[in-house]
Amino acid sequence: MALDHRLTPEHEELRRTVEEFAHDVVAPKIGDFYERHEFPYEIVREMGRMGLFGLPFPEEYGGMGGDYLALGLALEELARVDSSIAITLEAGVSLGAMPIYRFGTEEQKRQWLPRMCAGEMLGAFGLTEPECGSDAGGTRTTAVLDEATREWVINGSKCFITNSGTDITGLVTVTAVTGRKEDGAPRISSIIVPSGTPGFTVAAPYSKVGWNASDTRELSFSDVRVPAANLVGAEGRGYAQFLQILDEGRIAISALATGLAQGCVDESLKYAKERHAFGRPIGTNQAIQFKLADMEMNAYTARLAWRDAASRLVNGEPFKKQAALAKLHSSTIAVDNAREATQIHGGYGFMNEYPVARMWRDSKILEIGEGTSEVQRMLIAREMGLSS
Ligand SMILES: Cc1cc2nc3c(=O)[nH]c(=O)nc-3n(C[C@H](O)[C@H](O)[C@H](O)COP(=O)(O)OP(=O)(O)OC[C@H]3O[C@@H](n4cnc5c(N)ncnc54)[C@H](O)[C@@H]3O)c2cc1C
Repeated sequence: MALDHRLTPEHEELRRTVEEFAHDVVAPKIGDFYERHEFPYEIVREMGRMGLFGLPFPEEYGGMGGDYLALGLALEELARVDSSIAITLEAGVSLGAMPIYRFGTEEQKRQWLPRMCAGEMLGAFGLTEPECGSDAGGTRTTAVLDEATREWVINGSKCFITNSGTDITGLVTVTAVTGRKEDGAPRISSIIVPSGTPGFTVAAPYSKVGWNASDTRELSFSDVRVPAANLVGAEGRGYAQFLQILDEGRIAISALATGLAQGCVDESLKYAKERHAFGRPIGTNQAIQFKLADMEMNAYTARLAWRDAASRLVNGEPFKKQAALAKLHSSTIAVDNAREATQIHGGYGFMNEYPVARMWRDSKILEIGEGTSEVQRMLIAREMGLSS
């Protein structure tokens, strides 16, 4: 049977709706938020009203009853215009709400998901620490169960955590060592820490190269006490859970990277037709045409890759390797497209008022966040049967 990569009418309608929203609402405003390094609450509120934060969750928890493909489509269309907005959605859904949906108790789902799906509350996922990122099994944050009060007592710190310090952040799910196995290896668990819990400190936002309208912070935990019932999933399963969450998250980041790559094509194509040099549009030069053809090819193959991985996930098929391939490819070509888009724009490409300047600054993190390109290569090689 032939593969059909076309979207269903429902998916196409969603894609078009988000495309219009990105063009009409995000594009005119986001540059100013970005310049001021300000979180765009009004745009996020609007995205909440549209149901974007609830896309892949069932209606019983306030979601839209869609799937991961739907989330990817929304992320791609948003990132075509702006990546801060797209990563706020990606992290809110894939890292904030998804761990609770996938592994939480019925009570946790009912308590947290409806507000998260409505975009009224953001959740964050705290895995990375100052001393460990790629090697997240090296988590140093600890959580000890106080049997007398039935509370976890958490100590440690996390860094680079997205959506962790906005006015609407309601919780961060953190990984922490809750014990040791017989061989001495850590037992890592995931625990929900509501914002405002005493001892839980959220630092000021980082000064970043890109994603300047998104919220990223360092967190510290000093004898933070939360109820034993805040454990997400089984004790000691936190590491395995987060690996699964990151496998899915890679598809979402890949869709976002594809959007940035396509946004570079959109902006550059327009500019190549308008900008004149030597008495004719720069787009009449084959050197510029070839750049644009390569950029279009990049966005096209990245789109096929993330949609293939997403369809496998939606159909319940293995998708780990495809998600890593999609993430590696799309983030690589996003950086390539951003570099070429800036080149096509000449000096104007170096001016922040041009969207491609923002895209260039936003592209590099795609090769780092939710698993670096080296980590993707390690995963792919492992799936190919190679061991180190
Ligand atoms: C803006 C931003 C937002 C983020 N949001 C979140 C979030 O919401 N939640 C969260 O938990 N984390 C978040 N992160 C953290 C991100 O996931 C990590 O930065 C990333 O996983 C890399 O970890 P690291 O920075 O510790 O780099 P390291 O792990 O120290 O890696 C440094 C370099 O060494 C390479 N390397 C490491 N090990 C190997 C190896 N075995 N073989 C070959 N090369 C290797 C890496 O690929 C990299 O190039 C965010 C980061 C940023 C910058």
